[in-house]
Amino acid sequence: MANVKLSELSKYYGKNLAVDNISVEIMEGEFFSLLGPSGCGKSTTLRMIAGFEETEIGSIEIDGVDVSGLLPEQREIGFVFQNYAIFPHMNVYDNIAFGLRLRKLSANEIDSRVRAALEQVGMTGFENRYQKEMSGGQQQRVALARVLVTEPRILLLDEPLSALDKNLREEMKFWIKDLQSSLGITTIYVTHDQGEALTMSDRIAVMNEGRIAQIGTPEEIYEHPTDRFVTEFIGESNILRAKVAAVSDTGCELDIDGQTVSAPVRDGILVSADTILALRPERVLVGEKADKEGWNSFELPIKKVTYQGPFVRFLFALGTQELIAEVANRQDMEKPDPGTKAWVSWQSDSGRIIAE
Ligand code: ADP
Ligand code: MG
Repeated sequence: MANVKLSELSKYYGKNLAVDNISVEIMEGEFFSLLGPSGCGKSTTLRMIAGFEETEIGSIEIDGVDVSGLLPEQREIGFVFQNYAIFPHMNVYDNIAFGLRLRKLSANEIDSRVRAALEQVGMTGFENRYQKEMSGGQQQRVALARVLVTEPRILLLDEPLSALDKNLREEMKFWIKDLQSSLGITTIYVTHDQGEALTMSDRIAVMNEGRIAQIGTPEEIYEHPTDRFVTEFIGESNILRAKVAAVSDTGCELDIDGQTVSAPVRDGILVSADTILALRPERVLVGEKADKEGWNSFELPIKKVTYQGPFVRFLFALGTQELIAEVANRQDMEKPDPGTKAWVSWQSDSGRIIAE
């Protein structure tokens, strides 16, 4: 177990700045995710921690020691790639034993460690299988065993589930999280999939164009995104153009195309300024008027109703803009028709005024 500290880390490929001044400390035993769209610098950051890419600007410390002079094999790191990194010409046993044989451990020691690793990943009995005789999920388990058997201080996982189909991905994300918790190993997990990051992580760094846009727990990131990029990248949000009509200590009034709504106040906002209100579709209730303190509630015309299985999605006209509401598909729910009007309501403090 170890902690990892990145300080003002940057990486250029030619003139292209792939990683832009990243600083973060990852705690011992933490499951930490780097989350962001393709090309934002996640893999480059991970590869620098592993030592596959040189660190030229900034520093990487593991347990307080600068590792920039160390080769990958000296860093005691386990790295699992997107494409199953197991040798096709070796069976499972030899794949897992490979790293230990390089270290010239005794055959007895190797055998007991390989068997323990197989047990850890639930693959006991698969010793003689080859890559082509296993499913994608089984191959990824073996890839993990191959890494865990070397007892790394840190586990680095680069989109390890992205080659798997959806159901298996769902299953594997809980499995990896459980395995990581039971081992207590410091883990840095790279993904572009917000669902994976939210489900698995203790903390997430959301990355955009080489920079960290926000660091926080899944709940902090989802409930309190600090800028427009994070708001739009994590989950779904209505992004409504508004004008500030009034500001008080406790909240503010916004004008959205002629409709007055209340929202929590944000530092620095001024009356008559243009702003943006972000609002999650699942926070908007449809049907009854909410005659309560601290709620917005008004009638809007329905443009479209989409059946989505567990949810029903309503598209309302809000002036020239649109408001999406996503409602759990309960048996007793009202499903008003397009062309009619319905009440929409949300708790004022579930909206957020965001910076551009
Ligand atoms: P991510 O893993 O978030 O998709 P990467 O870290 O792979 O992003 O890439 C970040 C940026 O660096 C991208 O613009 C990518 O094209 C560039 N890049 C990555 N690896 C190399 C490389 N070996 N040579 C040149 N450019 C690279
Ligand atoms: Mg990548």
